[in-house]
Amino acid sequence: MEKRGCKIANKPEENKTLPLETMLDVSDNELAALLETDIHDSILFESADRVRRRIYGTDVYIRGLIEFTNYCKNNCYYCGIRCGNTVLPRYRLSPQEIMTCCVTGYNLGFRTFVLQGGEDDYYSDEIMCRIISEIKTAYPDCAVTLSIGERAYKSYKAFFEAGADRYLLRHETADDEHYRLLHPESMSLQNRKECLRNLKDIGFQAGSGFMVGSPFQKTEHLVKDIRFLQELEPEMIGIGPFITHSDTPFRDYKNGSLELTLRLIAVLRLMFPYALIPATTALGSIDPNGRELGLKAGANVVMPNLSPVSVRKQYSLYDNKICTGEEAAECKVCLQKRVELSGYQIVVSRGDVRK
Ligand code: SAH
Repeated sequence: MEKRGCKIANKPEENKTLPLETMLDVSDNELAALLETDIHDSILFESADRVRRRIYGTDVYIRGLIEFTNYCKNNCYYCGIRCGNTVLPRYRLSPQEIMTCCVTGYNLGFRTFVLQGGEDDYYSDEIMCRIISEIKTAYPDCAVTLSIGERAYKSYKAFFEAGADRYLLRHETADDEHYRLLHPESMSLQNRKECLRNLKDIGFQAGSGFMVGSPFQKTEHLVKDIRFLQELEPEMIGIGPFITHSDTPFRDYKNGSLELTLRLIAVLRLMFPYALIPATTALGSIDPNGRELGLKAGANVVMPNLSPVSVRKQYSLYDNKICTGEEAAECKVCLQKRVELSGYQIVVSRGDVRK
């Protein structure tokens, strides 16, 4: 990667040269200043889109998201499927039901399946490995991504050997004190970081990321988040706005903003030109055009829901999540139109990182 220093000016017209090069060795103060103002936004988004086009063209990769369990042993204060939420009806998909989602997904053109769930020990390593190898045997041309939280090194290793290709585990916040304010004592940032290092070590394509606008978040935390990502060098980076869930301790906190999330997507594209960055469901949930705007700000992945329509409302991470109604089976078609209208196109591909 090229490194060329240059200051970010306070006036947008002085920022004609704020492309990729600038962002690679931006200082903490410059980064903080950039995040706190909207005056650079249009140039940021244009630069991010240019970088994304240079590396990925107009391709958008799709991931079929299968939310296979909403049981969770953790009690994160922000999350609607936390174990302390006793009013939420719980569900688990059987291996066969998961397979049915993959069959549907494959026929729709998905070549990556993301198995996401709460931390649910019902799915032992053995059961997970069986599910993974069944999918990989049926669809050797597809990638399997896991997003099931923190597990032991040996569990991750077993999943990898069973054929899992990628793993998503957002660090949520890279600041210890902030982490404490979002999670109960039983959880630690240190353990989360170790899990991420283990995943990389084992050979997974790893994804991390954070919520934007989570309660108590300050600009300095976001700067730390970016610095942590630079250290980790993940293949995938997922960010989305925090969205209030009415049955959590954070019921009275306000949502993260569309604008800051878009700004961060652009900054991440410039700082991690090759990363796979989704325009997330949370982004689409705070604004009807959120995902389209995310793509235009540098995102290159979308993750439509492949879960059975009957369980989608119950995978309730936050209030007013999109694509949970009866029309949800049409997600792929609807998203395809949205992506095309934004000037990009969905491709049938595993969509591995380009390096
Ligand atoms: N158990 C898995 C999957 C968690 S759900 C794991 O631990 O990784 C996936 C992501 O949803 C989380 O990483 C979190 O960043 C996000 N999320 C949870 N609650 C949210 C909320 N209220 N608003 C926005 N995003 C939320």
